[in-house]
Amino acid sequence: MRLAIDYDKCTGLGMCEAEAPDVFEIQADGTLLCLDETPSEALRDEVEAACASCPTEALRIVEG
Ligand code: SF4
Repeated sequence: MRLAIDYDKCTGLGMCEAEAPDVFEIQADGTLLCLDETPSEALRDEVEAACASCPTEALRIVEG
């Protein structure tokens, strides 16, 4: 699975980090850091939850 992140849309609210803390991390300056742009299948449920939770639709799974 591969993630597409639209950093222009991200407002740093951190819903994604709450759902998938192994993949998303909000930095001290409020910007999003993706820890893993190709998460393993074991993380699929939480990554899908993170994508669904993003209020600005900045996150997408683009592959498998
Ligand atoms: S939930 Fe969306 S807007 Fe919020 S930090 Fe994550 S990617 Fe950015």
